[in-house]
Amino acid sequence: MTKLHQAFSHDDFRKKGHQLIDQVADYLEAVNAPNEMPVLPWRDPQVAYDDWNKNLLKENKPADFYKKVIQTSIHLHHPKYMGHQVAPPLPDAILSGILVSTLKNGSGLYEMSPLAAPMEKTIIEFFNKYIGYDEEASGFLTSGGTLANLTALLTARQVKGYGDIWNEGNPEKQLAVMVSDQAHYCVDRAVRIMGFGEAGIVKIPTNDKFQVDVSKLEETYNNAIAEGKTIFAIVGNACSTSVGAYDDLEAIGTFAQKHNLWFHADGAHGGAAIFSKKYKNTVQGIEHADSIIIDGHKMMMTAGLITALIYKNGKNSYRTFHQKAHYLWENSEAEWFNLTKRTFECTKFTNVIELYSMIQNYGVEIFDQYVTMTYDLAKSFAMMLKAHPDFEIAHEPESNILCFRIFEKGKSKTELNQLNAAIRKHLIQEGKFYIVQTMIEETIYLRVSLMNTFTTTTILEELMEEILKINVL
Ligand SMILES: *Cc1c(COP(=O)(O)O)cnc(C)c1O
Repeated sequence: MTKLHQAFSHDDFRKKGHQLIDQVADYLEAVNAPNEMPVLPWRDPQVAYDDWNKNLLKENKPADFYKKVIQTSIHLHHPKYMGHQVAPPLPDAILSGILVSTLKNGSGLYEMSPLAAPMEKTIIEFFNKYIGYDEEASGFLTSGGTLANLTALLTARQVKGYGDIWNEGNPEKQLAVMVSDQAHYCVDRAVRIMGFGEAGIVKIPTNDKFQVDVSKLEETYNNAIAEGKTIFAIVGNACSTSVGAYDDLEAIGTFAQKHNLWFHADGAHGGAAIFSKKYKNTVQGIEHADSIIIDGHKMMMTAGLITALIYKNGKNSYRTFHQKAHYLWENSEAEWFNLTKRTFECTKFTNVIELYSMIQNYGVEIFDQYVTMTYDLAKSFAMMLKAHPDFEIAHEPESNILCFRIFEKGKSKTELNQLNAAIRKHLIQEGKFYIVQTMIEETIYLRVSLMNTFTTTTILEELMEEILKINVL
């Protein structure tokens, strides 16, 4: 038998597979004994590279390889993981992931995956119910918030951008998008990709809560028009990345309607609040948006990269890439079951299985509980920090994101920045906690996204103690 045939052996697969599932289950157990294992096994990048490079062609038992892969990774399921906003995948989603990989049905064309599009349509309609969209709405899943935002803005450009830009190119006008200075960098990138340059972003000032300052909308718009720009879209954050602030979507919706702008709601992180009975008020007005994105891998615990992109008027989703590719679809009518008509991707995996399985097994409650528990935890942490004389918070948390810093009277702004950056560096290399940092108006803050429902207030107290300990070193 050739090596290749051996590699496809189902018996080998069964043996290795059982082993791997056991190892993953052991890992999920071990990771919750917080003092046993570092959250981030820090190595210098060059050291890590030398190690992997040296071992590439060495023989290794699969179990040893799996173990090493686990050991050298950052651990999202660790209760002391509170860094970037990636959710620990639900075990149910991990299992669905095996099916996704095994079947590898490409969901772009119906005949290449007879389950994908019907399942996606079902899931999108599930989202619609909680968003408050009616049956005109439709959408699909795509690969990440960055691509989803770009796709939505491409649709906006085609629908509101003055002419058939997809076929004829950008008009002579300087087209531009309004968005707050708190937007995720991918919005800026999308605008530049569309060829509008730096001038294509018109920044709306924010208020003291880092939300769009609604009172500045008209002025910002009028100034841009006076500069000769043509605004065709406005983006609302739900919520913003850096501090997790929710823009007033109701007000943005009214403004967008008045000026005939496309209203896009970037709910990559916080859009999942639609599922929380307690926090759905944060996204009030989201149903006015022409397009909405919500990441599965952020606040919905999927293992795969999944972003829902949903249009209030589903017909618009067919206008994004209005091109002729007859070999893919026989006629040019809207075919909801051939997703390539609307998605950026050609080959696209059926990660939708993860969401479908989660909903089937646990209902909407699983998302409600996840959002509600993590958002509640950020509120508790804010109270703990406020009660301590050596800490200050940058904002009241509106989500599970919180920025704070150690603060000592008498220290200059620069000294405080250096101190907080040094603390974060020390924390990372020590590996006990994983948090990140962010710069807000030239002030460095430590930043947590409380992504783990096994993180407790006791663990957050430990984090504060650890920071204070580092500070005296
Ligand atoms: C994370 C994030 C994005 C980017 O999403 P990816 O899935 O990481 O590509 C866009 N917008 C906001 C508000 C985000 O928080």
